[in-house]
Amino acid sequence: MLTKGKRTTKWLETTIPLVLNPGTMKQLYLRKAQAKILAFAQQLLRYKQQVNSALQFHHLVYKQFKYLGIQSQVQEAVQRRVYAAKRAKTFHHFPMEFNFPRSGNLTLSERGNAIVKISPLKKRIALPIVMNGGWRRVEEHRKGGWVAHSCKVFKRKQSWVMHLIMRKALPPPQEVEGTIGVDIGRKIMAAITVNHPSFPLVEQYLGKDLAWKQHQFYNRRKTLQKYAAQGDRRARRALKRLRRKETNYVQTRCAQLAHEIVDLAVISRSAIVLENLKHLRRMWTKQAMKRKKGGKKTRRSLNRWSYSLFHSTLTRVAHLNNIPVVFVRPHYTSQTCSHCGKRSKKSRKTRDVFSCIYCGFTVNADHNASRNLALLGQVALGLPFFNAYHSFLPVPCERRTLCSSVS
Ligand SMILES: [Zn+2]
Repeated sequence: MLTKGKRTTKWLETTIPLVLNPGTMKQLYLRKAQAKILAFAQQLLRYKQQVNSALQFHHLVYKQFKYLGIQSQVQEAVQRRVYAAKRAKTFHHFPMEFNFPRSGNLTLSERGNAIVKISPLKKRIALPIVMNGGWRRVEEHRKGGWVAHSCKVFKRKQSWVMHLIMRKALPPPQEVEGTIGVDIGRKIMAAITVNHPSFPLVEQYLGKDLAWKQHQFYNRRKTLQKYAAQGDRRARRALKRLRRKETNYVQTRCAQLAHEIVDLAVISRSAIVLENLKHLRRMWTKQAMKRKKGGKKTRRSLNRWSYSLFHSTLTRVAHLNNIPVVFVRPHYTSQTCSHCGKRSKKSRKTRDVFSCIYCGFTVNADHNASRNLALLGQVALGLPFFNAYHSFLPVPCERRTLCSSVS
């Protein structure tokens, strides 16, 4: 999100769910607009094969479908979304997306009630927003310099819902003195190492519970799926509840861990060093292959989505707190000794233990990786090179300098 290209402004984004309260006529209009947009999206799918880029796609379809009477910016948004949905064969729902101020606007009525004005079709309508806790959050965000950027409107169960996306320009990150290497592992969510010249040694395992808990969810789900397959309605409902429960649990824990790490970064004036996501994807495909062969052994490992969720949550929380995040290519971080800097495949005796064949240094494998990440981050940030853990200073090899990239 924040690493690619040389954009001048970087943005922080947050989504706030709000409840709308449209009258009967407005609901009719919304339903009509939604059906039209869904039908439009379905039709667009057929044209996707003919083009190679989003721009070509736009030129091919934009004028053709102008007659439908969908507001131009909304139409563009639908096109973008359809083009981006790589594997979609059909759509069952399609959110209406509005950009402020081109096709939507957030204002107050004369009486001081919150309203959102949107124009899915040519006509612009004003929808009252229920002023609940969600709205209070919007107001708080506004005080903190956030600006309403866009919104998605859709129907959920009996009510109309709006997801308001707010934005804020990212302030330049603060100066740092050290780094925190965060290794996101399969058994333990995060093994962290603080590398700071004057900070007491901190090495921690965070989120040991997650893999275990997800394993429990997995077991329960398997049983329920068996019953649900036999046509048990209660099991099917329970399955739904269970999924929601798992999502909630993982999201909460990810946020808690992220805050824990960022708090540490604030105290120690350190940057956070993470593996870049591109690598994660590759690793998980490898992991998936192993799972097929290995079966039971890997079952207790963390799910892939919780992994990337933690990665993005940590990045977000860090940016909110003005802590720089460095993404490094993690090649060989699991094979390199964080004590002497030499690399060998043989040093990784088992999955859990790292034992250097050159200097005999033995440590938990996740910690070794997080130390290496902390060191890589130092190089990437151009900090004076130090290793707070051992008397021996590893010589930063060329690869380290080459493969690091600063966000
Ligand atoms: Zn060594």
